[in-house]
Amino acid sequence: MPTPILPAGLHVFERGWLSANNILFTDGDETLMVDSGYCTHAPQTLSLVESILGERPLDTLVNTHLHSDHCGGNAVLQARYPDLVTLIPPGQASLVTRWDPVALTYLPTGQLCPRFKFSQTLRPGTQMRFGASDWQVLAAAGHDPHSLVFFEPISKTLISADALWENGFGVVFPELEGLDAFAEVAATLEMIGHLNPKVVIPGHGRVFMYTPEVLCAYERLDSFVKNPLKHARHAAKVLLKFKLLELQRQSLDEFAQWAEATPYFIQIREKFFADVAVRMDRAIVCRVSCCRRSQKRWGVHSECLSCTGSWIKSAARHTHHQVFRQPLKLVVSLSCSGWEGVVPTCYGHQA
Ligand SMILES: [Zn+2]
Ligand SMILES: [Zn+2]
Repeated sequence: MPTPILPAGLHVFERGWLSANNILFTDGDETLMVDSGYCTHAPQTLSLVESILGERPLDTLVNTHLHSDHCGGNAVLQARYPDLVTLIPPGQASLVTRWDPVALTYLPTGQLCPRFKFSQTLRPGTQMRFGASDWQVLAAAGHDPHSLVFFEPISKTLISADALWENGFGVVFPELEGLDAFAEVAATLEMIGHLNPKVVIPGHGRVFMYTPEVLCAYERLDSFVKNPLKHARHAAKVLLKFKLLELQRQSLDEFAQWAEATPYFIQIREKFFADVAVRMDRAIVCRVSCCRRSQKRWGVHSECLSCTGSWIKSAARHTHHQVFRQPLKLVVSLSCSGWEGVVPTCYGHQA
């Protein structure tokens, strides 16, 4: 795949999975950043910003949407840059004003997000100056009903947040709450198809060239539409993985207790797996410690994967494990990674 070329003055910090990528604009009179990452990574976010800006202040912060991995660094950036103007999507502005961590989903998902304030709301359908160029502000419901994406038509660059990743898109949260949103995901993908971007800066993962042929988002959506249980399992896996990336390590008992007490898991269970109890087996602990001892890195640990596979097989004999075997597999995989969730990569502009 050819190397994506980014417009001048645009810097992308590709973060680990826990924090969304940050896009920093340094061209033009004012500096601006899109999304601020997760709160536990806020010191890193700050040092990444300072490494580019030096003494220059960050003038504006824009959030694509208000998931904790996209706005968890807002509070720290606001403290560091007291004149920072913060713009958020309009849909949840009143919830931010009165700070409702339940409606903002931070409490139900068991995630953290320090309270922040905002200056103005973004207006879908308008244009906004990012650095030295004009970007279209576009509504992109599906993953989140209030999410926005940003498009620059001259360079054909899209900031896609969690509406489009190289390997799919973010969990369709409204579906977990019993609302139909797969059609909105399809409409957003269609809108992106019409924009026909050249380069996509996703909310997570590397910057990539947009070629409809290689995108697996449609295929993924289709499989979820046909089998919503698959999506629910995927969502549970994502939420567990997210928490593990935040915690880095925790005893299995505590982790299971956390999952059982977290409203989103209760909701997913009641809605999709009412007859199945969440249960994690002690056997996983052995596998985890065995994998940790091996110190092998995620992705190159065929030995660990095969031991995981055999454990999954034995666990699958118990009905209780059927549903959560994928998340459990992931728990093990994460432990193999050496608990590293932060691999910041900085793409400087290349044109
Ligand atoms: Zn995200
Ligand atoms: Zn999101």
